[in-house]
Amino acid sequence: MRAVVTGGAGFIGSHLCERLLHEGHDVVCVDNFATSSVDNVGHLSSERHFRLEHRDVTQGLEVPGPVDAVFHLASPASPADYLRLPLETLRAGSAGTWHALDLAAAKGARFLLTSTSESYGDPLVHPQPESYWGNVNPVGPRSVYDEAKRFGEALTMAYRRHRGVDAKIARIFNTFGPRMRTDDGRAIPTFIGQALRGEPITVTGDGSQTRSLCYVEDMVDGLLRMLASDHGGPVNLGNPHEVSMLELAEWIRKLSRKSTEITLIPRPQDDPERRRPDITMARELLGWEPMTPVEHGLRETITDFRLRLASGDFTEGR
Ligand code: NAD
Repeated sequence: MRAVVTGGAGFIGSHLCERLLHEGHDVVCVDNFATSSVDNVGHLSSERHFRLEHRDVTQGLEVPGPVDAVFHLASPASPADYLRLPLETLRAGSAGTWHALDLAAAKGARFLLTSTSESYGDPLVHPQPESYWGNVNPVGPRSVYDEAKRFGEALTMAYRRHRGVDAKIARIFNTFGPRMRTDDGRAIPTFIGQALRGEPITVTGDGSQTRSLCYVEDMVDGLLRMLASDHGGPVNLGNPHEVSMLELAEWIRKLSRKSTEITLIPRPQDDPERRRPDITMARELLGWEPMTPVEHGLRETITDFRLRLASGDFTEGR
């Protein structure tokens, strides 16, 4: 298979490129490094079957030669990034998705959109099944991401229904692992960075809000299964086990072997109270569920952060 991965130099994208190469596929990684570094794929640059294209997908996406699969990941993804890059985020979800779908249509390739649990906004239904339409504030600060992804989903379904593209939607819930940016503002990198620097771990609100945390290798496995399936989705991919932010902070403090304190700070606007996927569809249609214990994933992530800290590649936390 020859696969195009937009956003392939990002956190999830770099693991996906690695896995595709490992399975013997050709990979064209397209990225403008808006929220990532070329270092994420530096170790792949000498691979004969890997090509890196420094390009903005919102400006068009032409790839010479055959293409069998288009994985569309390009978008700022963490709240810190999309709040800093609101218009770029809207453009990546709209024009970027449009160009990626056009490429799939022109090449007769399968297409996978990496949508998000944020399509459900601040959900009123727990856990969230794919049939739930969500509770999104269309004019709140986070809408630049939520609504861009929802538009991307609508566009993907339109190409599936009206252009005959074998297009699919995966709704990704919180994913973590090595190569997350240390300063991306999400809870896990923030907490690990603070713990390793010996600073207080800052938990927002009273820390009772929950997230479900899926290890990146499991997520990549789910994305590949989704691409290979005959279903268009959307299908939720994530860990159905909920963890409160306070529990997570305590876990990270213990695993990083630092005796730092945990302090509570105000919560940002529109920050969802709970998010937990109903993964019945993923289990039934894809035979998929997360296999990696969160504790193992956290250990791997802390080890990666320690190594980057030692090599000086460690940016300041928020
Ligand atoms: P990331 O920021 O590490 O990766 C996104 C990549 O897209 C980056 O390399 C960035 O430079 C690139 N990019 C952004 N705009 C671009 C553009 N216009 N042209 C080309 N490249 C562009 O984020 P991630 O966590 O790896 O997320 C990957 C995808 O998965 C995103 O679409 C995100 O919305 C989705 N997702 C991630 C999570 C998560 O927990 N990590 C949860 C839900 C959905």
